Amino acid sequence: MQDRMIPVKPTRPTLVLNGAGLPLGAIPLSRAVSLVMTHRAETLASEGVIRSPSVTLPAPTVIVRVGWVPSPRGVHTRVTKSALLARDRWSCGWCGMPGDTVDHIVPRSRGGRHEWANVVTSCLSCNNDKGSAMPDWSTLRVRPEAPSRLLVLSRQLARLGRGAWEPYLPAA
Ligand SMILES: [Zn+2]
Repeated sequence: MQDRMIPVKPTRPTLVLNGAGLPLGAIPLSRAVSLVMTHRAETLASEGVIRSPSVTLPAPTVIVRVGWVPSPRGVHTRVTKSALLARDRWSCGWCGMPGDTVDHIVPRSRGGRHEWANVVTSCLSCNNDKGSAMPDWSTLRVRPEAPSRLLVLSRQLARLGRGAWEPYLPAA
């Protein structure tokens, strides 16, 4: 258990779950420790230690809130870039390479609307190649639909935790 003695930064993100095991978000380690110390959360997983002048404590990587705290419900109604990128796993909907631009499937210049059914994550190259041409729907690799809030949050947290939190997140 050598690594248990490794001090970690108080800003390291900690995953927060509710009592049903659903994700609520991520908070800095210092805040997570404060929730645990005041019995508003329990530690589910830890790694390393956090030191103050008086105490050394296991540093939680995952905590569970005590008491009922609802997790996000429903679908994202408004299109946002961050939710779109999470829906499409930060990959181009046309070629599958990493992507971080918003593409209107039917171009706005041709009457395409800014709505979930008409947006897809795109790499710069595909976005430029396509220009204002009409899309070839058969090559689209994702289903352009409004994502649930829980799916978006889970994918954003999985990315933030660089895989370490995936066992604690809904399979997405
Ligand atoms: Zn592409």
